[in-house]
Amino acid sequence: MRIFISGPSGVGKSTIIREVLERNGDIVLSVSYTTREPRPGEKDGREYFFITRREFEEMMENNEFLESAHVHCNFYGTSLAWVEGVENKGRHILFDIDVQGVRQAKEKGSPGVFILIVPPTLDDLRKRLAKRGTENGDDLRVRLANATEELRAWGMYDYLVVNDDVEKATREALSIIDAHRCSREEIIGRIPWLQKIA
Ligand code: 5GP
Repeated sequence: MRIFISGPSGVGKSTIIREVLERNGDIVLSVSYTTREPRPGEKDGREYFFITRREFEEMMENNEFLESAHVHCNFYGTSLAWVEGVENKGRHILFDIDVQGVRQAKEKGSPGVFILIVPPTLDDLRKRLAKRGTENGDDLRVRLANATEELRAWGMYDYLVVNDDVEKATREALSIIDAHRCSREEIIGRIPWLQKIA
């Protein structure tokens, strides 16, 4: 099962993702490829697979990415082979990717459940961003414009989780994932006798 969770920065997405992973031992967080340098404490294969620009370009040419992006002068991409390798071991994958990544994954026909975390109001998000942004110099208006741009893509998602209460939002995300486990798309492969009587 592929679970895609997006949401603008400041919406509380990381907290929800952390809870989902803690409570579902069979779901792993996607590890993508990047051309950026590892930060202290980061380990190759755990946070990211760290590769050179040349290697990244080769993977692009060979169409090896489910989705890829150029962020702050670095490249990031989700390898389809990695995804399939994890799936072949019977594990599920949670993708913490933005709207662009989701758009590409959908264009490539990826199955999965697509969840967008939404703030209760734009004003609420503005307040959360203002609180978070104190330590970096980014302009609040730019961050809010980026967030609004992400939210504009709500029509691409199967589920919208309004985070007006983080416990409630987490519960909703967990329920959506549980329900998706029983979706026809997910389960039919595991019921061969039922497939035969189609
Ligand atoms: P960082 O370098 O701080 O780990 O990540 C920078 C940005 O790249 C974040 O906004 C993160 O969401 C995005 N990012 C990381 N991995 C991927 C990926 O595989 N695909 C896409 N589309 N974005 C990614």
